[in-house]
Amino acid sequence: MKSQPETIHELKTNTISQSAGVSGLTSAYLLSKESANTITVVAKHMPGDYDIEYASPWAGANVLPMATKPSSRWERQTWPELKRLAEEVPEAGIHKMKSRVYRREKDLEKLRGGEYAFDGLFKEDPWYKTLFEDFRELSKDELPSGVASGAEFTSVCINTMLYLPWLVGKCRANGVVFKRGVLQHISEAAAGTILGGTYQKGQWESQADPNTALRIMKRAVEMVPELADGKGVQGLDVVRHGVGLRPYRNGGVRLEKEKIGGTWVVHNYGHAGWGYQGSYGCAERVVELADEALNQPKLASAPNELKLSPIAEPIK
Ligand SMILES: Cc1cc2nc3c(=O)[nH]c(=O)nc-3n(C[C@H](O)[C@H](O)[C@H](O)COP(=O)(O)OP(=O)(O)OC[C@H]3O[C@@H](n4cnc5c(N)ncnc54)[C@H](O)[C@@H]3O)c2cc1C
Repeated sequence: MKSQPETIHELKTNTISQSAGVSGLTSAYLLSKESANTITVVAKHMPGDYDIEYASPWAGANVLPMATKPSSRWERQTWPELKRLAEEVPEAGIHKMKSRVYRREKDLEKLRGGEYAFDGLFKEDPWYKTLFEDFRELSKDELPSGVASGAEFTSVCINTMLYLPWLVGKCRANGVVFKRGVLQHISEAAAGTILGGTYQKGQWESQADPNTALRIMKRAVEMVPELADGKGVQGLDVVRHGVGLRPYRNGGVRLEKEKIGGTWVVHNYGHAGWGYQGSYGCAERVVELADEALNQPKLASAPNELKLSPIAEPIK
């Protein structure tokens, strides 16, 4: 019997990404590098849109690793590419930035007691100290009052208003087709400083809370008075207040393949507050999973079909 095609390269594949967020776009981009793949992005929201259901435009965004060491794979694999883009591809809208992480004693106590166990950012002796070449612990005289310890390293800042369209452009150059649409079932580029934000699990309010906004502004100008030329909150020139949801999922990110009604679906959703900083690591896994799925023996000679699912589960 003639054997079935063994690799994705021999097969014309048809992939539909149901997402134009950073996860779906990065997956579509990496998949589209393989010329045998035909990729269509069908999404309700596209870069340029602002909607509470669309997380990606609202992100800061920067790279401050959040994973704990055992689940650090996605962020670890993503960092070299984001760093390369910052150094070599100015049109991607990513630039290097010195970052500081301050650890307050009251948070460290909770961390030592097992709280915030999901969050690796504020851990002492973090796994990511070897990720950033210039990572260093801050000396006591460098710490603001009320801060027990801290670290400094060169990270990146991603201008999402430039980066998402750049990703679209890379996809388009590889032949990806974009269609706006809602699948019922699975079968203002301005430069400025972002102050924020909050972490409120279960909070779905789409309008900014003026009290929270004021607290954020006060704390920011206290810590960095130059933001407002030393004039306090009154000295800030606020362009807009924004609210975005981090697509958190109980149990963590869902990154796996599943066959639904005869169609292979690769799930890649639930990245909470780290969708950008884990985007390439996760998208590489999507490519692996797509490869596995599409190379499974099949009887019909019709092109293989694949869907990428972004459906986030509600926070309970
Ligand atoms: C205030 C804030 C700050 C953040 N800061 C950072 C940061 O510093 N670093 C970082 O890495 N991350 C950060 N994040 C998190 C990051 O924004 C998210 O993890 C990321 O954007 C999630 O991307 P996504 O592609 O999974 O989802 P989304 O961006 O929400 O995209 C989902 C896509 O799926 C489409 N879609 C969904 N359902 C359907 C359907 N049924 N039919 C058709 N289309 C559908 C939508 O239209 C959209 O195109 C931040 C988030 C917020 C809110």
